[in-house]
Amino acid sequence: MQELFLFNTLSRKKEEFNPIHPARVGMYVCGPTVYNYAHIGNLRSYIFEDILRRILAYNKYQVKQVMNVTDVGHLTSDANTGDDKVEMEAKKEGKSAWEIAAFYTQKFKEDLARLNVQPPTLLVKATEHIKEQIELIKILEKKGYTYLTDDGIYFDTSRFPNYTKLAKLDLEGLIGGARVELNPQKKHPADFVLWKLSPKKVKRQMEWESPWGVGFPGWHIECSAMSMRYLGETFDIHTGGVDHIPVHHTNEIAQSEAATGKKFVNYWLHGEFLVLGQDEKMAKSYGNFITLQTLVDKGFNPLAYRYLCLTAHYRSKLNFSWESVQAAQNALNNLYQMVGTFEEPRVGCAEYEQRFLEAVNDDLDMPKALVIVWELVKSDQPSSAKMASLKKFDQVLGLDLQKARAERLELPPGAQELLSAREKARKAKDWAKSDQLREKLLTMGVEVEDGPIGTRWKIMG
Ligand code: AMP
Ligand code: ZN
Repeated sequence: MQELFLFNTLSRKKEEFNPIHPARVGMYVCGPTVYNYAHIGNLRSYIFEDILRRILAYNKYQVKQVMNVTDVGHLTSDANTGDDKVEMEAKKEGKSAWEIAAFYTQKFKEDLARLNVQPPTLLVKATEHIKEQIELIKILEKKGYTYLTDDGIYFDTSRFPNYTKLAKLDLEGLIGGARVELNPQKKHPADFVLWKLSPKKVKRQMEWESPWGVGFPGWHIECSAMSMRYLGETFDIHTGGVDHIPVHHTNEIAQSEAATGKKFVNYWLHGEFLVLGQDEKMAKSYGNFITLQTLVDKGFNPLAYRYLCLTAHYRSKLNFSWESVQAAQNALNNLYQMVGTFEEPRVGCAEYEQRFLEAVNDDLDMPKALVIVWELVKSDQPSSAKMASLKKFDQVLGLDLQKARAERLELPPGAQELLSAREKARKAKDWAKSDQLREKLLTMGVEVEDGPIGTRWKIMG
């Protein structure tokens, strides 16, 4: 057995992972706000969380993974001021807020499926947990952690002594200095809304009755209410992107721990950002918004993006470029080509399996795990042993290696060799030979097509 170590944002250290129940893990993933397509930066976070979940399962834990869908309450600023993102998009697209949320939730699920991100055990919507959120706010109110203003009920951060423990910033750092304050009745800039009242004379599409008046829940309270509803007052792991550390997760801890008097989460894990060029953030307003569909339209396999994400550690920034996704696609094609030549899996290679386990259990060191994969593929181990170990590794990698092998096995005898020879001829720019091999493959019923991201083949029906 190899212990699992995870970097905990709470302690800023790698810690040995010990769940509350020896065989089970409860984990909560902050999910999407469904007012638009996810961009590939968002998807990097969900791939990291999928890898984490798969590694927990690889270590024989039974994992309950809960993810929320923010379909109400996420305002245009993370500090929960401004307009509701879903309602704003609804106005823009001329649809109802419910239609917008349903449409983008479906698109999000499709993206996850294309990336082999396993669906969460439970995908829960904020609009279906209004009661739980009201109950939690009532507890906070009873315990004296709240105050009322004209536009809603707020959490009083000065009443919660450890407010800065996750972000490890002083309050000034946390609130980022100059933020335009829209509500002058707020006692402190870090205080945040728990239940926002619908503006007077405005009929919102999503609004509910509450003890404080008709309105809607704040974004932070939904995650506290739904995570504790499904995972208990204290649970093992909570994840999200690094942007959630100073505001969203800081507020989740404050609300939850103030309400229960117990520790909310034992291990906090945060994924670094996907960036473009010089540390540029991906955002719709910058005109650099790349979706998974953008990659597919350019001819990339979604799993090439997954592969690209595995080449960087989740705690490092990943610089996206078209060259890097192309390199990932080439590497994946090569891997598929190799597994296509491997025999039926039999007994795996213990030494490589041990090294792979050590890498993934060292705070999800996927770049190292990939190096081990390639060392194994190129080693002189019997191919049945390589395939057996790769089959296991793919429980974590999620690259469809078995499927790739099966597809290649459908090739008529000798075709794989001709494909490889043609690949070599193309690399050497020997076009005459490459054309000749294409003809030969065609007579075997295999059609090859050379595209911008390499050669693909299909068996003619
Ligand atoms: P949102 O839908 O904005 O709440 O974001 C969904 C998830 O994506 C959150 O966990 C964010 O932290 C994460 N995220 C946002 N932008 C990026 C990025 N450029 N790279 C990686 N993760 C991101
Ligand atoms: Zn959340």
